[in-house]
Amino acid sequence: MDLQIHPTMHIRYGFFGNGLEWISDKKPKLKYKHLLTNVNYADYFYQNKGARIFVIGLIGSDSPTSRKKAQQSILDQMSYVERFVAENADKFSIGRTAKEVRQLVNETDKTVFIFSIEGAKKLISSMEDAEFWAEKGIAYITPIHLEDCEYGGAGIRPGLSTNIINIKGVFRKIFIPKKRGLTPLGKQAISWMYKAGMMVDVTHMTDQSRHDALDVMGENGFTPLATHDHFKPFYNKPRSIDTNDVIRIYQLGGYMSLACNGYSLIPKKPYPEYKKLIKEFPNYESGTIDTYQLVYETLLGFIRKHYREMLNQNTSFSMLTEQDLTRLSVGMQSDFNGWVNHTKPKYGSKKAQRKSGKTSFNRFDLEGLPHPGYLNDQWEELKARSVDLNPILRSSERFLQIWEKVQSESTLKP
Ligand SMILES: [Zn+2]
Repeated sequence: MDLQIHPTMHIRYGFFGNGLEWISDKKPKLKYKHLLTNVNYADYFYQNKGARIFVIGLIGSDSPTSRKKAQQSILDQMSYVERFVAENADKFSIGRTAKEVRQLVNETDKTVFIFSIEGAKKLISSMEDAEFWAEKGIAYITPIHLEDCEYGGAGIRPGLSTNIINIKGVFRKIFIPKKRGLTPLGKQAISWMYKAGMMVDVTHMTDQSRHDALDVMGENGFTPLATHDHFKPFYNKPRSIDTNDVIRIYQLGGYMSLACNGYSLIPKKPYPEYKKLIKEFPNYESGTIDTYQLVYETLLGFIRKHYREMLNQNTSFSMLTEQDLTRLSVGMQSDFNGWVNHTKPKYGSKKAQRKSGKTSFNRFDLEGLPHPGYLNDQWEELKARSVDLNPILRSSERFLQIWEKVQSESTLKP
């Protein structure tokens, strides 16, 4: 499990805790329910248990008053991480090009951080802006975040807080629903970012914005990233990617990522044929690793069913090359920053333990996923269930391949 693709944030939402702090001598008791607590402690990244490469998402200001201030906020977050890495240079490193990441992975044992920007309000108004960030080593940008902005409409996840944050989007949804796609600047910004050598993430968009983004990318031969939205057949709400767009993302060379988190993946208004699958899952416990396994394996099944369209070839599945399979990767993401809880323990209660008939339970059975230090426990549990983890393992390679492609075609060749 090499790459954790969803941004981990620091500083911007300081009330969650900054993240990247050592807590060895004051280990708090953390639970899978850690909403509002940033559990990204350095102790849990170090030694690469469960993931080796982490994307650090630098979060753009929600209401920047000027371009300068928007830039400065990102640069401050970057310095925070750079300082931490400099102080712990024997254990951590930053990869600013795909080549650098490969070198660090192959030649050191360090945990590797990659930078992305999530929410680019006032950050990309020209090709020069895009080149500025590409030169800083930003791997990808998620231009739209929690609110409708100058680039286009933001998908609003169900919940009062998300609706309040994007009150502008709520009004537009009611009064001008047709105007929630990408703006002309949004389309232009995708080209600038891509041509400067950064990948573009279609996460957080409304369906219309995502359709527009995939159109622009398709017309120009750009490869999209989809880092942290849901799979619509199970999570039938905004912030979810429908089957057609999943196919398009793979056709354009990108791949889809899923939250490695049973709690976030709990189905909402699933399509009828998918609802059936929940009922058929043996001893299904909602929000636990069962939910992750169900959604992940269903997505794998969907990819397997549609791989011919995705890869545009007729070979039988068993004859696909390693490179074809790499193109069919599935990314893994999480959000240990305080926005969500993580996988619920399957045997957390005495009742569940009695019912299971099992006599021994490990820490993951009893605690679920309280922080990134338990990621490997989750992978081990999935392996014990014979779940095919190769599509996740391949995703780091695919990520680097896409980044290499974008960089090699860029105006600023690395
Ligand atoms: Zn996000």
